[in-house]
Amino acid sequence: MTVIRLYNSKTRRREEFVPINSQNVRMYVCGPTVYDRAHLGNARPAIVFDVLFRFLRAVYGPEKVTYVRNFTDVDDKINARASETGRTIREITDETTEWYLDDMASVGVLEPTHMPRATEWIGAMKDMIAELISKGHAYEAEGHVLFSVGSYDDYGQLSGRSIDDMIAGARVEVAPYKRDPMDFVLWKPSGEDTPGWDSPWGYGRPGWHIECSAMSYEMLGESFDIHGGGNDLQFPHHENEIAQSRCAHPHGDFAKVWMHNEMLQVEGKKMSKSLGNFFTVRDLLDAGVLGEVIRYVMLSTHYRKPMDWTEAKAKEAERTLRKWYAKVEKADVTAGLPSEILEALAEDLNTPKALSILHDFSSSDRISELAISMQLLGLMGDRPPSWATAPDIDLSEYQAMLAEAREVAMQTKDFSKVDQIKSRLLNAGVEVRMSKDGVELLPSGGFDAAKLEGL
Ligand code: AMP
Ligand code: ZN
Repeated sequence: MTVIRLYNSKTRRREEFVPINSQNVRMYVCGPTVYDRAHLGNARPAIVFDVLFRFLRAVYGPEKVTYVRNFTDVDDKINARASETGRTIREITDETTEWYLDDMASVGVLEPTHMPRATEWIGAMKDMIAELISKGHAYEAEGHVLFSVGSYDDYGQLSGRSIDDMIAGARVEVAPYKRDPMDFVLWKPSGEDTPGWDSPWGYGRPGWHIECSAMSYEMLGESFDIHGGGNDLQFPHHENEIAQSRCAHPHGDFAKVWMHNEMLQVEGKKMSKSLGNFFTVRDLLDAGVLGEVIRYVMLSTHYRKPMDWTEAKAKEAERTLRKWYAKVEKADVTAGLPSEILEALAEDLNTPKALSILHDFSSSDRISELAISMQLLGLMGDRPPSWATAPDIDLSEYQAMLAEAREVAMQTKDFSKVDQIKSRLLNAGVEVRMSKDGVELLPSGGFDAAKLEGL
């Protein structure tokens, strides 16, 4: 069997991965807070852990991997969105959840085995909070329940921070009801305009961290194999998950291996609304960037390195994928997985290496291996996507027509003829690319020659 080695953020080393039970390999990944479209950065953990899920299924068997990714549907950002828009919380979270699933499916992400919504597991959270209070790890104060950080000696081990660093780094909220500024909220009171549930500590709602501890316990048990998420979650979220789970279930290990993806940037800069380089997955798809292209670009950087989204990479990815899809259209996909690909992924999910092996398969015309490996990486379903299987047609006549019209328009400054030709082509399912180097025409799967008649 393939020897898998994964970098464990908890021990800061690459370790051999041995599942607790190879008949049920268990993984939990923190999912989105559902109040808005997923931005491109949010797609990174979804894609990274999807590759890991596919890989583990390939190694241990498709039925032997349980993957849980939650939806955070109770959160103050959602409450704020509801009061801004006058819509109900449920409308917002239902709609955003659908969007998320659609957008992730567009970039080839499989649905995890379980996708619990926090609001459906409030009972499990209350049980865990009660357990923590009874064991002396949490206390009630002014309608709140707080976790007592001082009661757990190993607090800070995951992120390797001292208590002072943590206080400074997290801008810890100092509240009169806290015994210690590091203590964090397990339960808080709700008013009339915030969602709430009855509890032994009054009408209220859970703090953010408890949901992952409670839901992972319900679905995966007190010890499971892998916990993942973006490295922005390492502190305080994951540190708090560990404290809650280890204190409520002292006989369990909680997660054995912690995996964190690095952040995504855009053209070398942090993605942010104020820099004007913030976009959602849907924005890109609507602008004509293909889901497979987004996925390929994501996989071209190792998950533990910061990744830079650039237009140049997307263009290059599309060229590569078009070339590969043309080759694998009639490939035999019944053979086993090539060992080279499994070995690359077994080395801490080395997806850039895996892509370079695909390039080798392509250039040495190992077509069946190329196709099977593309399927494993989620770059292709059973067959190439419809956009890539354009009919083999000669568009050179239209290409020459457009180039000539452009020449003329440069002189006359009248581009109406160019625009007319372009819109006819687009309408017939041909993508038009014009640059200083010339005109490129790319027919799609939906190409309709009849729509070009008389042009
Ligand atoms: P959120 O909905 O903010 O809780 O984030 C959902 C997931 O996206 C978490 O695993 C975050 O760590 C991850 N994430 C957020 N921003 C980025 C980014 N710029 N690059 C990579 N991952 C991100
Ligand atoms: Zn979490």
